[in-house]
Amino acid sequence: MKTFEEIGIREDILRAITEMGFENPMPVQEEVIPYLLAEDTDVVALAQTGTGKTAAFGLPVLQKIDIDNVQPQALILCPTRELCLQIAGDLQDFSKYIKGLHILPVYGGSSIESQIRSLKKGVHIVVATPGRLIDLINRNTVKLGGVKAVIMDEADEMLNMGFTDSINAILAEVPEERNTLLFSATMPAEISRISKKYMKNPKEITIGHKNEGNKNVKHVSYLVHAKDKYAALKRIADFYPSIYGIVFCRTRKETQEIADMLIQDGYNADSLHGELSQAQRDAVMQKFRIKNIQILVATDVAARGLDVDSLTHVINYGLPEDVETYTHRSGRTGRAGKSGISIAITHVREKGRLRDIERIIQKKFEKGTIPSGKQICEKQLFDLVDRLEKVKVEEEEIAPYLDQIYKKLEWLSTEDLVKRVVSLEFNRLIEYYRDAEELDVPDETRRTERGSDRQGSDRGRRSRSGENGFSRIFINLGKTDGLIPARLIELINKNVQSRVDIGRIDLLQNFSFFEVPEASSKFVLKDLQGADFDGRDVSVEIAQDKKDGPSSGRRDHNGRGRRSSDGGGQRGYGRRGGYGDEKRERRDRDSEGKRTERRRRF
Ligand code: AMP
Repeated sequence: MKTFEEIGIREDILRAITEMGFENPMPVQEEVIPYLLAEDTDVVALAQTGTGKTAAFGLPVLQKIDIDNVQPQALILCPTRELCLQIAGDLQDFSKYIKGLHILPVYGGSSIESQIRSLKKGVHIVVATPGRLIDLINRNTVKLGGVKAVIMDEADEMLNMGFTDSINAILAEVPEERNTLLFSATMPAEISRISKKYMKNPKEITIGHKNEGNKNVKHVSYLVHAKDKYAALKRIADFYPSIYGIVFCRTRKETQEIADMLIQDGYNADSLHGELSQAQRDAVMQKFRIKNIQILVATDVAARGLDVDSLTHVINYGLPEDVETYTHRSGRTGRAGKSGISIAITHVREKGRLRDIERIIQKKFEKGTIPSGKQICEKQLFDLVDRLEKVKVEEEEIAPYLDQIYKKLEWLSTEDLVKRVVSLEFNRLIEYYRDAEELDVPDETRRTERGSDRQGSDRGRRSRSGENGFSRIFINLGKTDGLIPARLIELINKNVQSRVDIGRIDLLQNFSFFEVPEASSKFVLKDLQGADFDGRDVSVEIAQDKKDGPSSGRRDHNGRGRRSSDGGGQRGYGRRGGYGDEKRERRDRDSEGKRTERRRRF
């Protein structure tokens, strides 16, 4: 292993990074830094967050800046405000001993005027999100003619976020003889295209272990029915009382819904997604960083700016669309020498994608069994005992009450006392999980599903038609309108924002029915209502029952019918009385929502 000195890092920078605790270069730094210092080579580096890539490009960029020439000499592009601030902050730290160097982060969501003022004063390095930089270019307030190096960090994510045009426009503004360095965790075709178009014989560097942490990550998959995904998530969270993790969802909407449900169910959770204001996102991230929040439900993009090294778990609430996103997600745990668990809560249709992921991460998923109620109770019980042992007693504060407490409890033996203290919390859990069903898809069903998947979609769909947890939806289109299963699926895919499983489809002459998981029915109805099908307005509503036509009642009629028949016990409903309708419906999707006692934290 080489030292920073050996790879050419200058003394003043060396001093700063040594103070930061950098002893030796990380692999990406050892590979990239000599290229960027010694030669004018363009580099495409495949490396993920956490690999030390900021220093890999940051140190040589800093070293090459001519302090006396006060104009932007290096331009660093990145997808989010958080990353922008993080990079600029890291560069400030690395350049602590470089006198007169000015680094400016420019990003959307904050005053453009103050950024313009700073630009006018003169800067050497601009760290920018593409949108804001385009604004500044259009206002003629940033001059990029002196740029000698362009770095695109998390290039794949910038493309995912729709910045392709902005990047093209920005690259057209900088001198052709600049150096270009592109960091990406994945190498989609668009990145190859950009590298071909804008880079000169780029040197391709792949960091062998994409993320050091990957070695320490165990990958576990749970197979459940779509309707049981949320219940499975709760079981997993209950089984790991000290969980400190991120639950990744696909859409903002799903993220908010899952976070709301977890909060309602007494978990220490919150949401992070793009519909929150910047101030809200900052507040949530800060709470999560200081561990005031145990479970953060997030979209991939919003979680980008969050740099937390000690996550115990990453939970994939369903598999990501792009299988390579999985490597990003799982790479967020098992960092800094710690071990981590990446969990995928999947349903039967995602099996193929599990295999794709296994190919990419070159590891097999362990097949997990959703913890049973008994296992959870046991785990939580011992966690409680553990905490009882370790709890800090505020001797002074509690002293004034002790006499009275001893007097009241003196008739109890030590054994009785222990049992009672523990039961105080344990009873709730036992009660909650008393009749808990198994959530794993039984082997037999797996076989049936596999068989039907192989034979084509229709039979696959039909195999689940009798299952609980699917809602039957009436649609005002039938065979006379040209509706066939494929066109119905296309209609749903086109209009419904989130992924949705489609169950049985019954096409009739003038109208039809199809089934979707209960948990999805609400947004399917919302997204399809009024959609266009060959010039006709689509109308959908929950069917009253399996045979009938459209319901004449309210949309939640179906849900209520199920509720009354499932013998859930009145206690839970009584407690839910105070919630709004929507919350109540959400709870009812979850078969475990019937037992709603808050029992999360001992
Ligand atoms: P990055 O991938 O740039 O976000 O870096 C991940 C983490 O590794 C950051 O907390 C850096 O401060 C840290 N880091 C980067 N390079 C080194 C190094 N050579 N030695 C120790 N820590 C480092």
